[in-house]
Amino acid sequence: MLKVTLELRCNVCNGERFMLPTLEETDQTIRCAECGAFKCHGDDLERVLARDSVTQRPARLAS
Ligand SMILES: [Zn+2]
Repeated sequence: MLKVTLELRCNVCNGERFMLPTLEETDQTIRCAECGAFKCHGDDLERVLARDSVTQRPARLAS
């Protein structure tokens, strides 16, 4: 499992740190790193990461 900080909020403790499954693991769910609450499935994470990669892209040259 990988411990990362995401732009997500745990529904239980409002934490931003989550445990991510590696590709080899069969349980493709994300759990809160603080309280262990179930957060979402890997598919949802992919959407979040895709969205974040877009929002964090340094392409704000035009004003
Ligand atoms: Zn939590």
